[in-house]
Amino acid sequence: MKKLLFLFDTDPMPSVFDTVVGYDGGADRVTGYANVTPDNVGGLVDGTIFTRGGQDKQNTAIFIGGGDMAKGEALLKAVQKKFFGPFRVSVMLDPNGSNTTAAAGVALLAKTTKLKGKKAVVLAGTGPVGMRAAALLAQEGADVSLTSRSKERAENAARAIEARFGVKVKPVQGADESARAKDVEGAEIVLAAGAIGIELLKASHWEHNSTIEAVADVNAQPPLGLEGIEATDKGKERDGVICFGALGIGGLKLKLHRACIGWLFESSDALLDAEEIYALAKEMA
Ligand code: NAP
Repeated sequence: MKKLLFLFDTDPMPSVFDTVVGYDGGADRVTGYANVTPDNVGGLVDGTIFTRGGQDKQNTAIFIGGGDMAKGEALLKAVQKKFFGPFRVSVMLDPNGSNTTAAAGVALLAKTTKLKGKKAVVLAGTGPVGMRAAALLAQEGADVSLTSRSKERAENAARAIEARFGVKVKPVQGADESARAKDVEGAEIVLAAGAIGIELLKASHWEHNSTIEAVADVNAQPPLGLEGIEATDKGKERDGVICFGALGIGGLKLKLHRACIGWLFESSDALLDAEEIYALAKEMA
């Protein structure tokens, strides 16, 4: 029986990245739908749950993607609402690679240094990756701040994280590089989660900082989020700071993403969200 992965994307086009990784993770066929919303997803879910019976059902799975965490989470709720009794299939939530990327980055940091009680700053943490990374760091017991160019966006992100994960992160405004340099004063961990190709800090803002132990940057496209690291850094020590660049994190992210796709087809009731994906990332890191 063919393994079918249905990609429900909240964006105007289904993600090519998620389609490729769907195949590489073991799906025989990946079918992407765009502009999927809680209002139009019902019929799509019906097609996944009423077509195969018994153990055969585990050969059908759903992947929820797109560039908006809140829309992805709302879509996940709507999908789960359609399930009843054995009429369900496994589902993974990973808008913009948020869960897999954040889980890989935080798992690598956790392997490098103790996170509990550490002061961690997630720079430009209002996107899907940054919000998940902030939540995972806080769940590990770090004292987390999350920056945004806008105080209001930082506060909204902190509220959404608390509502979903029950952990508090401190919203901080970091309007420009010099403000963000102040935001990382006294920090022990810095995770840069800014948009692609956006520099968030100069090397001088973090390299000679006496408290920073480890930094991670998920942006792979120059200029990198943190000047002074290389995208390929994977635990490289620079001036006493352990560094992880986007490609150093991306290797684990891709392995993790593929492993999660394989996991979806092992049963018909798996739910792969931040907690499940992070637990696997820690095993794989
Ligand atoms: P995103 O939503 O595109 O951007 C994150 C935040 O960056 C935004 O919320 C915004 O925050 C801030 N930002 C945007 N333009 C900015 C500017 N000019 N100056 C300062 N801040 C700016 O990002 P995402 O989807 O969460 O992804 C985060 C990063 O992870 C991206 O670089 C993406 O390419 C990367 N990524 C890496 C991997 C990997 O395997 N390494 C996988 C997936 C994604 P405010 O507007 O609130 O300031």
